[in-house]
Amino acid sequence: MSRKPLIAGNWKMNTSIAEAEHLAQAIVRASADLQNREVMIAPPYISLAAVADILADSEVILAAQNICWAEKGAFTGEISPPMLKDIGCRMAIVGHSERRHLFGENDAMINKRISGAMEHGIIPVFCIGETLAEREADNTMKILEDQVRHGLKDISITDAGSIVIAYEPVWAIGTGKTATTKQVQEVHHFLRNLMERLYEKNIASEIRILYGGSVNATNVDELMAQPDVDGALVGGAALDAGSFERIINFQ
Ligand code: PEP
Repeated sequence: MSRKPLIAGNWKMNTSIAEAEHLAQAIVRASADLQNREVMIAPPYISLAAVADILADSEVILAAQNICWAEKGAFTGEISPPMLKDIGCRMAIVGHSERRHLFGENDAMINKRISGAMEHGIIPVFCIGETLAEREADNTMKILEDQVRHGLKDISITDAGSIVIAYEPVWAIGTGKTATTKQVQEVHHFLRNLMERLYEKNIASEIRILYGGSVNATNVDELMAQPDVDGALVGGAALDAGSFERIINFQ
């Protein structure tokens, strides 16, 4: 089964509304003739409406940087799946390491967010990753397996294949340190096998596994050449139109 590569830009807490519009326009232009790959961008919530208008006639996918599990109610500061659908989001990042480490989100919460997104037809980009201490203690695969098992608890086989997993080693995010292609391929292969153990072969071969962690215009080609790397989740380099254009045009 061939998996369509996905390049996803996470703008984090950057850009004014005007800057977001400008960047989105540049990305629409840059992706107009792309074939056989998908491009997703996740602007800050306050820019979603403005960016949705700009993406309207393009193939670029609008995403949120997080998503609540509930449809509405007393959840101050959260945004619900129907609200995100209303504004045009087709995907949502869930479990980003900054949410886990700076805002205390745990696996149970992340699992609820994934379920909530799937119930409303929003595809979660489910982020997992080990810290440097966990890697140095040789615990990487165990940590990742726990994150996947808990994050995907009770997610049905029908839904599992459409989820996107993003492997983002915490030590490589925003640090300029990229995992080696060997480390990335080893983890992605492990994750694909894990999906086969948790679900079945078809799910394992259809699920897209992205790498994230200091992906840039220079290292993207080598990363994308790995057999189990189906795309990239890009932070810093997604804020520069020229760099992101080069990344979406990976060879
Ligand atoms: C991210 O935000 O998911 C990320 C990978 O950031 P950066 O590309 O800046 O490391």
